[in-house]
Amino acid sequence: METEVLVVGGGNAAMAAALSARDRGAKVLVIERAPHFYRGGNSRLTRDYRCMHLEESEYMQGQYTEEEFMDDLKRVAGGEINESLARLIVRKSAELPDWLESQGIRWQPTLSGTLHLGRTNIFQLGGGKAVMNSYYQTAKKKGVEVLYDAKLEDVVIENNEFKAAKVLIDNKVVIIKAKAIIFACGGFEANIEWHKRYWGEAADNFIIRGTPYNTGNVLEMLLNKGAAQVGEKDAFHAVAVDGRAPKFDGGIVTRLDSVPFGIVVNKNGQRFYDEGEDFWPKRYAIWGGLIARQPDQVAYSIIDSEARMRFLPSVWKPVEAPTIKELAGKLGLNPEAVEKTVKDFNNACRPGNFNPAELDDCKTEGLTPQKSHWALKIEKGPFYAYPLKTGITFTYLAVKVTEEARMVMDDGSVTKNMFACGEIAAGNVLRRGYLAGFGLTMGASMGRIAGEVAANAI
Ligand SMILES: Cc1cc2nc3c(=O)[nH]c(=O)nc-3n(C[C@H](O)[C@H](O)[C@H](O)COP(=O)(O)OP(=O)(O)OC[C@H]3O[C@@H](n4cnc5c(N)ncnc54)[C@H](O)[C@@H]3O)c2cc1C
Repeated sequence: METEVLVVGGGNAAMAAALSARDRGAKVLVIERAPHFYRGGNSRLTRDYRCMHLEESEYMQGQYTEEEFMDDLKRVAGGEINESLARLIVRKSAELPDWLESQGIRWQPTLSGTLHLGRTNIFQLGGGKAVMNSYYQTAKKKGVEVLYDAKLEDVVIENNEFKAAKVLIDNKVVIIKAKAIIFACGGFEANIEWHKRYWGEAADNFIIRGTPYNTGNVLEMLLNKGAAQVGEKDAFHAVAVDGRAPKFDGGIVTRLDSVPFGIVVNKNGQRFYDEGEDFWPKRYAIWGGLIARQPDQVAYSIIDSEARMRFLPSVWKPVEAPTIKELAGKLGLNPEAVEKTVKDFNNACRPGNFNPAELDDCKTEGLTPQKSHWALKIEKGPFYAYPLKTGITFTYLAVKVTEEARMVMDDGSVTKNMFACGEIAAGNVLRRGYLAGFGLTMGASMGRIAGEVAANAI
């Protein structure tokens, strides 16, 4: 089998690359490891892209300048990043709403309420599944060929030049030759054995929020073949998900945002972190890691009836009981221990002006760990609890790329016809932290560059 540009992966980064290469006249083949129904990787579970813009529109409020976007990114990135690459992505983000619309993707008017992202992020009409369906429909119309159940296993590289790919299609080995290859096949988030290298047996208790197909086999293969590595090996984006979530692919509806409005205890009935440290959009992504360090990697978010309507609930109903003791019993926790924790917390709450939109002055005094904001007594029954587990979104370990999305090798040489974009290149611009909506923005911006440069190069 032969093509001009071979795109590995079937999510946002892959499709942006495939369509851009096709628009430049290249013959393009996409190989997607998942079957048709699961096409689109983690991209099909998303809601929004983060985009800079200087004017208000129906879909984004106010302004979001390049400098503000860069400042936000640098603040959360969690270490040294390639700043000029990050700036390129930020600048390219301004083009994304129109470019994506030209590929058939539609937007929804700005949301108000709990998400606080109406100014900085543009929301997809119909969510990620609709985005992926539009991408694939447009790809079909433009003559991009797509193979499903097609897993890249290996590549032949000679003198930094890609020659051929070994692909398993419907369990048969097929060799595909191409003039250029674009790797857009995600991180290793769905690979529990890989997580065990850093977390040991605890990784068995992790929930994978997205596709089971992102096992990182291509990332590992490329690193073994001398691709330069960038990003923190053990870093992942992980949130608190409902403990009843399925092992894989539960998506956004399993995430729990109740944490700042109550307390969180571990299986010994003890608090272990400041639930009100900062605004939730800045802290939600640390709770997966915090829970991963607790016994059995479980925790419980406890709230009273006053707090019930203050957050987007998960898809499951909370556990409910008229008293804290009974609630603890239903959760399988020691009732006396949980009752004491709640009592100590209530006694430490200082009166203040509760305001979820601000870093308010409702805090505890003389309690360890402190709750710094939104600390209201848990006293009005019935009482509710959600079991929590670590929900992994994606990993940061990546192959190093240039501003043309070309892969760099260990010896510093830049490859001739190998490109990478999306999560497989995340570590270039994110080391540990995350900015909501940046995953898609990074993938689409670098995907477009990869597709254009690859097509031009051939
Ligand atoms: C529940 C959830 C919600 C999220 N919400 C948002 C959001 O609203 N906004 C945002 O910006 N980000 C969000 N993210 C993060 C976002 O999903 C990722 O940053 C982004 O989708 C990554 O895009 P990608 O194209 O690099 O990878 P993916 O979309 O994951 O695509 C990877 C593709 O590679 C394929 N693949 C893997 N291995 C192989 C192989 N060996 N051969 C061939 N194909 C292979 C997979 O099947 C898949 O199709 C969310 C993530 C999750 C889990």
